[in-house]
Amino acid sequence: MPEAITPLIRAPWRRRSRAGAWALAALGLISTGVQARAEDTSIGVYSGRHYNSDQKLYQQFTTQTGIQVKLLEAKDDSLIERLRQEGKNTPADVLVLVDAARLERATSLDLLQPARSATLLRTIPPNLRDSKGRWVALTRRVRVVLVNPALVKATSIRTYGDLANPALKGKVCLRDRKSVYNQSLVASQLLLRGEAQTQSWLKAMTSNVTQPYFSSDIPLIRALAKGQCGVGLVNTYYLARLLNGEAGPADRALARKLQVVFPKPAHVNISGAGITRYAKNPQGALKLIEFLASPVGGKGYAEANHEYPLKGFGDDPILKGMGRFQADGLSAEQLGSRNRDAVKLMEANGWL
Ligand code: FE
Repeated sequence: MPEAITPLIRAPWRRRSRAGAWALAALGLISTGVQARAEDTSIGVYSGRHYNSDQKLYQQFTTQTGIQVKLLEAKDDSLIERLRQEGKNTPADVLVLVDAARLERATSLDLLQPARSATLLRTIPPNLRDSKGRWVALTRRVRVVLVNPALVKATSIRTYGDLANPALKGKVCLRDRKSVYNQSLVASQLLLRGEAQTQSWLKAMTSNVTQPYFSSDIPLIRALAKGQCGVGLVNTYYLARLLNGEAGPADRALARKLQVVFPKPAHVNISGAGITRYAKNPQGALKLIEFLASPVGGKGYAEANHEYPLKGFGDDPILKGMGRFQADGLSAEQLGSRNRDAVKLMEANGWL
């Protein structure tokens, strides 16, 4: 998922304003009763995810509920900014974001409101939702160690800490510090191992890095496969896309040279959603989130991007081929709350 703040609006739309609808009513084109229903039967969704299969799921939701989904897909950070600027005038009822740190940022900016839903409380494990009910996770993604077995023995890596081994000098490829995925990984280590240990891990691991630092996971995977380095950190879905041939046969051949190591325990991140603070249709918004968290919706959302469902390992054959992982069990909310500390520590210890 790209992370720069560049609006990339795929499906621009504008909710018909109340004033506009009233004007139509005044012209006798629609009745005010119909207007009230139109407001109830559509929701605006701002989503940082951009996969075609997501749209199929929204259509399925519309068929089931009669609620139209008006979708705006853009980069996560630009959606947060947009929502903040629009304030009460936002047409968005639901905000979908990738990464716990971004969901936490949305709550710290007071952009989301609590959902009151027994269904969500029942379905979503407590560590995968906000304690105040402002967002819930919908999918899980795992950041793993990827190994080129021609250069590094996969059995030599069992934890993220092992990337600090001096034997890996010049053999580690990393994505840059701006990557929220890496920030959340460091936050997880802060929570599990404390500041002193995380600091020495970072110092030693960054001294093993062969530059350049990468700006996304895919070129890092290619560099690994070409032997530029022997180990790297990536989200499994990027490798899965390449293994699935989504970027063509050359990338598939490269991806096949690599081996996944799930560190024990593995860092698990999420994509998730919440109802916006100024939603015009909070009930409709909740229905969509409940749908996406249901077995059907959750499976569809996960499989759209080769991610894991909230429970279990899913049915994606490519992910299954990578094996199983033992999740660190940390709360996604805590990951977000340690984001700032993580970034500071990365900065102070050589993560460019
Ligand atoms: Fe991504």
